[in-house]
Amino acid sequence: MTNSIAVIGGGASGLTAAIAAARSGKYSVTVYESGGRVGRKILATGNGRCNMTNINADTRFYHGQNPNFILGAKRGFWVKETIDFFEELGVVVNVEEDGKVYPYSNQASAVLDVLRFKIDDTDNIRIMLPFEVKTVTKTGERFVITAFDGRQETADKVIIATGGKAAPAFGSKGVGYDILKAFGHKITPLAPSLVQIKTETDVVKKLKGIKLDADVTLGGEREYGEVLFTEYGLSGPAVFSLSSRLGNTKTVSLDIMSRYDKDELYVKILDRIAKRPKITLDNFFVGMFHKRVGQAILKCAGIEPLSRYAVTLGEKEIARVCAIIKKWDFRITGTMSWNNAQVTKGGAVTDEFGPETMESKKVKNLYAAGEVLDIDGDCGGYNLQWAWSSGYLAGTEAGK
Ligand SMILES: Cc1cc2nc3c(=O)[nH]c(=O)nc-3n(C[C@H](O)[C@H](O)[C@H](O)COP(=O)(O)OP(=O)(O)OC[C@H]3O[C@@H](n4cnc5c(N)ncnc54)[C@H](O)[C@@H]3O)c2cc1C
Repeated sequence: MTNSIAVIGGGASGLTAAIAAARSGKYSVTVYESGGRVGRKILATGNGRCNMTNINADTRFYHGQNPNFILGAKRGFWVKETIDFFEELGVVVNVEEDGKVYPYSNQASAVLDVLRFKIDDTDNIRIMLPFEVKTVTKTGERFVITAFDGRQETADKVIIATGGKAAPAFGSKGVGYDILKAFGHKITPLAPSLVQIKTETDVVKKLKGIKLDADVTLGGEREYGEVLFTEYGLSGPAVFSLSSRLGNTKTVSLDIMSRYDKDELYVKILDRIAKRPKITLDNFFVGMFHKRVGQAILKCAGIEPLSRYAVTLGEKEIARVCAIIKKWDFRITGTMSWNNAQVTKGGAVTDEFGPETMESKKVKNLYAAGEVLDIDGDCGGYNLQWAWSSGYLAGTEAGK
């Protein structure tokens, strides 16, 4: 066996690619990993539980210039095949609410372990680490892989599986984009996604640390869930999840009483006033919202001083309060940084790759998989599904 495949990056997509590439037995496969161990990010996924995939995964949950690019993977190696693949390696899975799939053991380490065991058991896979690839060039039919420390290796085929720029603490620093650019591939603008949102801070700062359940609307999408006020803006699962839809959206809105419509809310407030006319406004919402949230709503509605009695609230004032409770707008100023993001929005233009093979249309025998491509998914197992699928397809094709 003299032919060789180099997999650049030992993360979710790279490890799957290596296992798939080795299956034909025609190639020796080397995984080049910059860190001291493979799969560091996998360990951090799903709060250490690894939300491996989602049984509802389809184009609705993916973004990029062409989300339909995932349809090739959907035809070739998708959710069922992924679950079968991991079950074959020993992972028993559990499907939870919203179709999220976790290992039954609730341990992300189990997912990484079975991949490592498989690799250890496979004679034609070798892991080289730490080996931080700086460049990949092609001379004639062979690729030359050069590390930052000057070491060089060669291969017949190369799979770029370096991940994106999100969460660089786990090894993904964005070098993959430079490697693909050097081969003439275009990279779309990159931005952190699945990340906390920064807003104007005058209101949120005062509510720092308070959590509430709300219907969050952003970029035309709505999601119900917990919202956390922070010093810089808004966090919590619903906000985090909707951050993938950010685009040029300038406002995020909270409906903090979504079970009531505006009219019902109006009646409820009138009732509160009737029952406690002499309560001062600073305590008026105690029992309905966190005290500080209630005070902030009244201030946002321009109602002051809060030492006034509830009974002094006029019709227009009550209407303004209801409007804010149902649609509390926060002006977006940005997102938190790459360090806080779970995924990268943007990446290598997918039209330049085969959707069923992940092979470059520009350079023969060059493949890309995972987050380095311009595909990002919502929160809920969609990003790992993309990594497993694209890695598996790239590996299978390279191994032919
Ligand atoms: C905290 C956190 C939690 C997450 N939870 C989930 C979840 O529960 N479910 C879900 O679906 N998604 C989740 N994600 C997203 C998911 O982990 C990623 O989308 C996925 O891991 C991407 O796979 P990848 O193989 O493309 O890249 P990565 O997993 O990032 O792997 C890339 C690998 O390449 C290596 N590398 C990078 N550059 C080089 C180089 N120059 N030379 C050699 N090696 C290099 C890196 O060290 C790394 O090991 C989470 C992400 C984070 C940060």
